[in-house]
Amino acid sequence: MIGNEGRAQAIHQITNRDKISVETPEPLSKIWACDVFNLAKMEESLSKNAFKAIKKTVQTGAVLDSATADIVAAAMKDWALSRGVKFFSHIFYPLTNASAEKHDGFIVTTSDGGALTEFTGSLLIKGEPDGSSFPNGSLRMTNAARGYTAWDPTSPVYIMQTDNGATLMIPSVFMSWTGEALDKKIPLLRSNAAMNTAAQKVLSLMGETDIAPLNSSCGAEQEYFLVDTNFANSRPDLLLAGRTLFGAPPAKGQDFDDHYFGAIPARVQVYMQDLEDQLYRLGIPAKTHHNEVAPGQFEIAPYYETANVAADHQQLLMTVLKTTAQKHGFLCLLHEKPFAGLNGSGKHVNWSVGNATQGNLLDPGSTPHENLNFLLFCGAVIRGVHAYGPLLRAAIASAANDHRLGANEAPPAILSVYLGDQLEKLYLDIKEGKLDKAENGGLMDLGLSQILKFERDPGDRNRTSPFAFTGNRFEFRAVGSSQSVSGPLVVMNTMLADSLEWIAGELETELANGGDQTHAVITVLKKLMDEHGNVIFGGDGYSTEWHKAAVEERGLKNIPTTADALPAFTEASVIDLFERTGVLSPVELQSRFEVYSEQYILSIDVEAKLVSEIAKTTIYPAAMNYLSELAGTSLNMLEMDIKLDNSVAQKVAEETNAMMSAVEKLSAAMSKHDFASVEEHMQFCAKEICPLMLEVRSHADILETEVADELWPLAKYREMLFIK
Ligand code: ADP
Ligand code: MG
Repeated sequence: MIGNEGRAQAIHQITNRDKISVETPEPLSKIWACDVFNLAKMEESLSKNAFKAIKKTVQTGAVLDSATADIVAAAMKDWALSRGVKFFSHIFYPLTNASAEKHDGFIVTTSDGGALTEFTGSLLIKGEPDGSSFPNGSLRMTNAARGYTAWDPTSPVYIMQTDNGATLMIPSVFMSWTGEALDKKIPLLRSNAAMNTAAQKVLSLMGETDIAPLNSSCGAEQEYFLVDTNFANSRPDLLLAGRTLFGAPPAKGQDFDDHYFGAIPARVQVYMQDLEDQLYRLGIPAKTHHNEVAPGQFEIAPYYETANVAADHQQLLMTVLKTTAQKHGFLCLLHEKPFAGLNGSGKHVNWSVGNATQGNLLDPGSTPHENLNFLLFCGAVIRGVHAYGPLLRAAIASAANDHRLGANEAPPAILSVYLGDQLEKLYLDIKEGKLDKAENGGLMDLGLSQILKFERDPGDRNRTSPFAFTGNRFEFRAVGSSQSVSGPLVVMNTMLADSLEWIAGELETELANGGDQTHAVITVLKKLMDEHGNVIFGGDGYSTEWHKAAVEERGLKNIPTTADALPAFTEASVIDLFERTGVLSPVELQSRFEVYSEQYILSIDVEAKLVSEIAKTTIYPAAMNYLSELAGTSLNMLEMDIKLDNSVAQKVAEETNAMMSAVEKLSAAMSKHDFASVEEHMQFCAKEICPLMLEVRSHADILETEVADELWPLAKYREMLFIK
């Protein structure tokens, strides 16, 4: 296509598009979890005994005997067949941010040429996809490429409907021949178990006798952008890298704040409704949706669930967000920074821990005793963020998220904890010994409940903190929009397990000294605050003073890039943490470091290639066309004795030359391959390749504002961002 023809056609298509017909939505009661083989459906179709066994497995993860597995598999198959399903798949969660699946038919042929269906307990429980194409670091040699998937019965089986048919999906773990975790689910389950063990110890020491198993919970707020596919298809950067690598700022961006919480564009509203109906069918409790800060940006937040189920649902939600968008003529961008100069997208991970007997341990209670439990668990989080801040940063590190963190629109790359004024004061009082004076003996019992009556007004919240207490949970705000929530949840659960183990040890010693329980708790918390209280910060996380003070006075780390962050996985204290808690063995951890480093290097490599290609083959020709037009006109004018001002031509020529010489430098840098280590390679990407990509872009973006609109080939920000 010549000049701006692609853009013009896109605008034509959008203006004349057929409206998607809106069907009257089905009532929630009719569609809720209708595609999920949940406990209710099992109860309908199984014998009493079989149901009892599977219910125990679903609720506790207990091993299912093979006879019951056969019965459950048969019931599952019947239910699926009655819904027109012919295939099943173990869906698993490799070390990418996507899910993976291999489909198998229920079909078996008979000797007389007929066909039957079959689904046994062993087929349900175990699958064997070829594992060689999934990232595994150095865990498996490709000649031993077998990977196993095994059903995770604590996450429900469901039917995935697509235009080409329906498949029974079986959420699974994915492990190597030798039993190592190749996925994100196994460590999540292990981290929950470690947290449970440690929490049980603390609660027992606190005198609790009836303690149900503890689980972590997660509610993730997902931000995303929608761009009309007509525009997206003209932008190779959006299609291949998920973000714009070029694009001048529009005259109007998010300056007026008129988009945030504004009326949702009608076309998007139709999309959201379709999306949510599909989520409801899958048993995903979509609860909130609204516009986000940037034009074209939106948010969806389901109600929170057990972390393991929430993680699977989050993954599914990302898939459904994208597939439904296609149906509505949109490209859904989950990238952390699709548009320069506008807010990027995050995924706030709301996280709490609790059980059926003590409730949510991060919810201040109504009795002094409940509040002591709360103070211990909340203290454990404070200690965890301080002791393992760099690990938390590493868990959310990616080339894409680096664009967001610390860019004054998202939390800084310094991990601190926000508690709110009252709670912060309470912990500081504990630190200064104010709550444990003999003369204040009664204060603990009488005052604490009052002190802990929080205002849960979200307006009060400090939006600049990466890790904030929000009344009955913590909100990890630095997580990126395209990321699996599993990685951050694993780190949060594991650091909590470690802190609770530490607390249990200290508490045991204090109690053995014969002190009363309140005194023992306050003594342990004082010690905790002395060592880790530095991580509490209630001020403006964006300010330059904080960036200075955090590092110089508090000893916290500011970790701006993935290249700086990922080596945390190789630190002795982190290897020890994961090994001690049984969450990841040293080789499993090492494999993650290798896979994530590789992903960082690869994604920057893809972007660099795109920058160079688009600059040379799309932008350069546009600039040259314009120059030749200007030159031709100028010559013609000279023949008529009219001398034209040539400053525009000069500027275009200068910027084109500068862009092409930056492309040269970028190509030269990309040809470097002799790195001593993967760490050195990552640093080279962060310090050399990324700035060179920006240098190319800076000239290209000036050209966009100089070259005639009718010659400009790439869809412009103003066109893509404002949804019609
Ligand atoms: P906001 O934007 O004000 O932070 P949202 O309503 O958009 O709040 O999202 C809050 C998320 O936190 C929801 O997913 C909600 O279900 C979840 N949540 C609420 N309570 C808890 C809890 N105790 N543990 C984990 N997540 C929770
Ligand atoms: Mg929200």
